[in-house]
Amino acid sequence: MKKALITGNRGQDGAYLSQLLLSKGYEVYGADRTGDSGLWRLRELGIEGRVKDAFLDILELTNIMDALERIQPDEVYNFAAQSFVKTSFDQPILTAEINAVGVTRLLEAIRKVQPKIRFFQASTAELFGSTGSAQQNETNPFHPKSPYGVSKLYAHWITVNYRDARAMHASNGILYNHESPLRGEEFVTRKITAAVARIRKGLQESVTVGNLDSRRDWGYAKEYVEGMWLMLQQPVAGDYVLASGKTHTVREFVEAAFLAAGFRLEWRGKGLEEKGVDAATGKALVEVSKDFYRALDVDVLTGDATKAREKLGWTPKTEFKELVAIMVDADLKRLEVKQ
Ligand code: GDP
Repeated sequence: MKKALITGNRGQDGAYLSQLLLSKGYEVYGADRTGDSGLWRLRELGIEGRVKDAFLDILELTNIMDALERIQPDEVYNFAAQSFVKTSFDQPILTAEINAVGVTRLLEAIRKVQPKIRFFQASTAELFGSTGSAQQNETNPFHPKSPYGVSKLYAHWITVNYRDARAMHASNGILYNHESPLRGEEFVTRKITAAVARIRKGLQESVTVGNLDSRRDWGYAKEYVEGMWLMLQQPVAGDYVLASGKTHTVREFVEAAFLAAGFRLEWRGKGLEEKGVDAATGKALVEVSKDFYRALDVDVLTGDATKAREKLGWTPKTEFKELVAIMVDADLKRLEVKQ
């Protein structure tokens, strides 16, 4: 039986990967600083109690080493991160401690305890930040635009360095935005689908968002963790873009989410005065506020996952509208269970 250690296992990706590895017969160990607040994800996937506690914090080298010695994992997946771009502008140093130096602690502990352990790092499209090209693959230059992106850039290169200099099996997944019903409500997609469900059920009047014209390459997280697992099954480690290859605006996401709950939206006004109005009743369901705008946002990023398709046989399958509907349906069901 293979053993895997997943840091950040109560976040969206950690939970889906735990589920995938358990279904493949792995013994799964998890570490997560969110405590019980992330347990709902494992509960929803029906795997609560099946992931063993690894008792480690990536801020502390000695307990990472103790955990590796005790568990003797074959694979380590790192999702432990301060993962909010906006928060990273307020907490740049903590972001670096966790996202950058934390990865070095993990790699160094693996090197010392058992360098044959295979390592996956959750790298990100935020590395590209501002880019001259319409689509990015593994060879594009990096230019991050937030403390989050900069911290992840260090993490990316230290992973490459342990692969090159220490001959370790260490891989980066350069992940474009990936969403699901398990996404936290701090992210715009889940913020919208949770609000749409509450509006449908009469529990909320409207939702307020930031820049409606921001674009993202949004895929389905459940499929992305399969790509991550495939990276660690290759004879040679490497870096791979995982992306849908298509972008959509926040506005399109809002429209699709309301439509999935039976509302047709019409847009009225411009800029901060713009409103999304229910075409049937004229009621304002979507408002815009400066509070949710970014100090600096990344350019439009679209991923080219050709390498992952050719080498890993990985392709994204769930289309944008289907993904939005999956998320809205899950949020509606949660409210129905509560009522
Ligand atoms: P990110 O790509 O990791 O920053 O993921 P987010 O889901 O937080 O943000 C995606 C995009 O949505 C960014 O360009 C935001 O500026 C934009 N956005 C627009 N309105 C909102 C909002 O109300 N909340 C968040 N989080 N993002 C918003």
